[in-house]
Amino acid sequence: MINATILRSVGLGQGRDTVSRDSELVHFELCPMCGQAVDRRDIYAVMHHLPVGHEPLPVH
Ligand SMILES: [Zn+2]
Repeated sequence: MINATILRSVGLGQGRDTVSRDSELVHFELCPMCGQAVDRRDIYAVMHHLPVGHEPLPVH
């Protein structure tokens, strides 16, 4: 009974990690002009990559 409970919770944890990692990548897109990965949820990053001839954002 106890063993079954532990195994089930470990399995759920691994599944959640995999799903969140995949869904994070869905939000990123390579900018066709500067080649930088853009997070489409970040309105400031998206706006930065709109004009033609822009520079890549500084990486922190
Ligand atoms: Zn860009």
